[in-house]
Amino acid sequence: MKFGAIEAGGTKFVCAVGNEDGDVFEKIVIPTENPEVTMPKVYEFFKDTGIERMGIGSFGPIDLNEGTGSYGTIQKTPKTAWINFPLADEVSRYTGVPVVADTDVNVAALSESLWGNATGVNSCLYITVGTGIGAGAIVNGATLKGLSHPEMGHIAVRRHAEDTFAGTCPYHSDCLEGMAAGPAIEQRWGKPGNDLADNELVWEIEAYYLAQAIVNYIYILSPERVIMGGGVMQQAHLFDLIRKNVVDMLNGYVSSPLLTPDRVDNYIVPPGLTNEAGIKGALILAAK
Ligand code: ADP
Ligand code: ZN
Repeated sequence: MKFGAIEAGGTKFVCAVGNEDGDVFEKIVIPTENPEVTMPKVYEFFKDTGIERMGIGSFGPIDLNEGTGSYGTIQKTPKTAWINFPLADEVSRYTGVPVVADTDVNVAALSESLWGNATGVNSCLYITVGTGIGAGAIVNGATLKGLSHPEMGHIAVRRHAEDTFAGTCPYHSDCLEGMAAGPAIEQRWGKPGNDLADNELVWEIEAYYLAQAIVNYIYILSPERVIMGGGVMQQAHLFDLIRKNVVDMLNGYVSSPLLTPDRVDNYIVPPGLTNEAGIKGALILAAK
């Protein structure tokens, strides 16, 4: 069977035709402009492809509740042209196939659990630290959703003693994303993270916030593996700082051999998939 997949992002839409094994037969990348410009190109690509169903991993927030009548509709987003755009409905209408939608990070977590760095465990988290901070979760093979979808980037964090930065989140100012996403680093220090590699305090503060978040996620979700990706995590030295902070903050409370200095590098890991994690995950959404 052939399935369609869309990775809907703030800068680009990646569309593909593939199968339930994540094999991609055809792919196209379309810039994210207004829906009126972008979507006709998406529909054109899927015309006559013979797909049976479509999976979408989307930027959000997006409505994922089937009873609301607005399943798959984009909600609050800084990309204002997309607010209230009924992405899943429109894609279904123009392609003629059923659509399954989820968040971009949930879909990445799904991919990592099947083919990446979270194979062999029943639960994992995929955290991205980039322009924003988001996380997707897999629990027993399925993505975690509920009332809405998790918004793990917006949790409250305790302020670092040497940090007076106000925070960038338009909703909460100094939430995790407001303090630790790429734009927060850039505003706090006056230049982007990429130019701050040698400034130790930058990464000590960064790791302090990210580790707090992971500790909270461990207490609430008890994931068996934590994958961290996104532009900011290109600073590879951050991994060890985060691992050390996580072990210290847990203070031995959670008994797992993985949460020890010797083993934590097998617990907090980079992604195993670089290209096509989103697209492969969206194919699986469709195939399931
Ligand atoms: P997006 O989140 O938009 O999909 P990225 O994951 O690439 O894109 O995140 C972009 C953010 O990551 C920017 O704020 C940028 O400053 C930061 N970033 C990108 N590369 C690096 C790097 N090598 N070191 C530190 N920060 C980086
Ligand atoms: Zn926030």
